[in-house]
Amino acid sequence: MSITEPPVSAAEALLADGTAVLVRPVGAADRAAVLDLYVHGMSDESRRMRFLGTSPRAPELVADRLCGPGRSGVLALGAWADGELVGEADCQETAENGGGSAELAMAVADAWHHRGVATLLTEHLVHAARKRGIREFAADTLAGNRAVHKVFSDLGLPVHRHLDHGEIQVRVPLDEDDEGYLGAVDERGRTADLASLAALLRPRSVVVVGASRRVGSVGRTVLLKLRRGGFTGPVWAVNPHTGVIAGEPAYPGIAELPGVPDLAVLAVPPAVVPGTAEECGRAGTKALVVFTSGLDAAQARRLVQSCRRHSMRLVGPNSLGVAQTDPEVRLDAEFGGAFPLSGTAGVAVQSGGVGIALLERLAWLGIGVSTFVSLGDKYDVSGNDLLQWWESDGRTDLALLHLESFGSPRAFARTARRVTRTLPVLTVDAGRSDAGRRGAASHTAAAATPTVTRETLFRRAGITAAHSVAELVEAAALLHTQPLPDGRGRVAVVSNAGGIGILAADACAEAGLELPPLPADTVAELYDLLPAGAGTANPVDTTAAVGPAELRSCLDALARAGTVDALLVCLVPTALVQDDADRPLRALLDGPGRRHLPVAAVLLDQEVPVRYRTCADGGRLPSYTDPAAAARALAHARDRARWLAEPPSAPAAPPDADTVGARRLVDAFLAAHPDGGWLAPGTTADLLDRYRLPLTPSIHARTEHDAVIAAQTLRALGHDGRVAAKAYWPGQVHKSAEGAVRLGLGSETEVRACHRHFRALFGDRMAGLVIQPMAAPGLELLVGAVQDEVFGPLVLLGLGGTATDVLGDRTTRLAPLTERDLETMPAELRAAPLILGRPGAPETDLTGLRHVLAGVSAMVCDLPRIVEADLNPLIVRPDGVVCVDARIRVEHRPSYDPYLRRLRRPALAGEAGGP
Ligand code: ADP
Ligand code: MG
Repeated sequence: MSITEPPVSAAEALLADGTAVLVRPVGAADRAAVLDLYVHGMSDESRRMRFLGTSPRAPELVADRLCGPGRSGVLALGAWADGELVGEADCQETAENGGGSAELAMAVADAWHHRGVATLLTEHLVHAARKRGIREFAADTLAGNRAVHKVFSDLGLPVHRHLDHGEIQVRVPLDEDDEGYLGAVDERGRTADLASLAALLRPRSVVVVGASRRVGSVGRTVLLKLRRGGFTGPVWAVNPHTGVIAGEPAYPGIAELPGVPDLAVLAVPPAVVPGTAEECGRAGTKALVVFTSGLDAAQARRLVQSCRRHSMRLVGPNSLGVAQTDPEVRLDAEFGGAFPLSGTAGVAVQSGGVGIALLERLAWLGIGVSTFVSLGDKYDVSGNDLLQWWESDGRTDLALLHLESFGSPRAFARTARRVTRTLPVLTVDAGRSDAGRRGAASHTAAAATPTVTRETLFRRAGITAAHSVAELVEAAALLHTQPLPDGRGRVAVVSNAGGIGILAADACAEAGLELPPLPADTVAELYDLLPAGAGTANPVDTTAAVGPAELRSCLDALARAGTVDALLVCLVPTALVQDDADRPLRALLDGPGRRHLPVAAVLLDQEVPVRYRTCADGGRLPSYTDPAAAARALAHARDRARWLAEPPSAPAAPPDADTVGARRLVDAFLAAHPDGGWLAPGTTADLLDRYRLPLTPSIHARTEHDAVIAAQTLRALGHDGRVAAKAYWPGQVHKSAEGAVRLGLGSETEVRACHRHFRALFGDRMAGLVIQPMAAPGLELLVGAVQDEVFGPLVLLGLGGTATDVLGDRTTRLAPLTERDLETMPAELRAAPLILGRPGAPETDLTGLRHVLAGVSAMVCDLPRIVEADLNPLIVRPDGVVCVDARIRVEHRPSYDPYLRRLRRPALAGEAGGP
């Protein structure tokens, strides 16, 4: 195999200790570096392990093979730190096992052992080799080579070992894309991320650069806050222009500081940011928080480069800072707001203003914060990073995010689905329904992420999505203190004023909560204990005459009923209440713990939308002014309970696809069309075929004569006489709307007439005709996929055909689809009875439909450059499924393997977006 393209592009990645290295293919120019690594970077013993012996010529021979001319069949990747080659992993294709096998070898400089260099390189090599169609790594290793065996075990791939004369032959099959491997890559990525975030969120020392003497300046304010907040390590100030700030000495530069700051806070003008960052990096600083905004593209790029070069994590620019309340750290490096109350909520925001508002509301409510980060322009540290931090910081039990996106969309589903199993994650979704739809024209793209869908997608990732900061705080108040309800979410509403009870019941219905009828014995019990005239059905109306003791008994009876999962209790002050001890609220606060149900109170005379009431047992109970807010909070808790109750489902089995060939098709199209676009019908057909997606035979005919031959050919292939003819031109969107589809053409004359008709209608615009056999009638569905900026790849199923937009009967899932998704998607449509069968109508070929769903999911996950795919209609019948119209749009995005660890490339000001 000849090498026409670099096997993988260069990528920055983190080692296990958080150090960033550059991983890129080793080329002809690297021979000296490779040799230097072998000869000077490694001890005799390491060399013996690498070269399976002591031949002094071996290093040169191998360096020649990796870097010299004629390196056919060789893939070699190097890890560079600060321009120095610190490790290498390579593989050479062999003819063994009928090809597809490659000999693997690796070497790491002694000084860089035990930092995960070899593992990282091997991961990248696995990725590159898979792309090349290599299906197995084989390696001969010395039995004593512990390090290399650890690399293999750590990979998480199945490893077969065979001992032979002191050498261990290792075989690693690569085509089993099993969860173990992905999990292992994930796990290592996480450890590295966490190690690198420690300098940011648990620094031992901090410097503020740009602290000025001017009262009210950002730098000075942060400096004062850091000192007042009681940061447990040294705090330094750097300012070349002034000797003393706020009574303490300022240093002229980073190099002059008495120690190396873990964290540097930059409040300097944009022009000075890149130079300062580089200075910090050289000094050994490991994290930056950049307050500065307004960096131009060149300044931004230099800032990011310095961070990469020196393994610094970066928050901002345009950040409002970070805060860590752990008493061992007490870091208040934020501008604005008061130092948050210490507690267990993790807060990350993109906009500083929202952040301050959120912190204030939390403080007011009495919810303490573990970590606060204002992410600003998110060049590096993202929501995904923080979710991972909170997942394992041992303090955070509630995550609150206000972000436009979470980081890499392809990592989103995976990270969120995992983290939300351990803690509630709440976000504000402002319903930016335009998100994934920009520049899109297909049904799928237009339908993929309207507001309703975004909500379900968040829910599918286990995330609680609120519509506003207010709703976020209201939901947090409940989730933070109340037990989760049963997933059924059956609510009993209790009020001491009937009208309010009805309002609350309506609010529950609106939030999708059920108000079940109460069991007969509970009704009888309530009848006995409540004042005369009380309503004992759900909603329960205790009447204003209810006393604390009766109310208490009523709540206990409801809690025991067994058919109720949550209580919503609405109380209005009544004229009967003489003093505080008499208030019905007292009864509510009297030991809700023993009721083991989530309780939300509604107190209409309360001055703020939500606050906590302290219970007799010391617990806290959220009380709301608006019954609708309480109902929404309960519905969010119910959704979370459902999510936790649902066991994680296995990923859908992918089809036996030709991924390598498919990728080549897409790459070839993009090489010819750098701006991307819709694939031509022939390429589309080819691509679908590689994912075993059943497209009806489609013959592209340029001329009238070709069209006639095509129709004859289809007949000869055994299709019954009639054909469909569709005019084709590049970039075409909806054909029938333009009159470009003719169905049921029976004779040669009809085919000829159709061609002439199209020619007259479309003129030179028409590039030809697509001729297909007429498919037997059946139910027309739409199966589509789209890459969303927030959620990553999505798969959509709906009622299809030309009226699909009118019907709007659709369901969407995060890709990769799980086995459960394949089960539930068809059942969720309003058209479900047409698919699943009903009396008089047999069920359609469900297995065929599920294969198509799994195939489309695999295709968009494998090929992130497919930005839209639309199979419409997929005609489903009892005897099979077939697609008669498919369109695929591709775009040049940096290829990105979701499981390949690398740092996110930032979308720099003035540049196109990142992956
Ligand atoms: P477009 O979606 O661009 O308008 P289609 O190729 O989907 O064009 O054709 C429109 C409709 O024509 C389909 O929804 C389907 O009902 C019908 N149709 C198209 N091709 C065939 C075919 N080969 N066999 C049967 N019906 C077809
Ligand atoms: Mg169509």
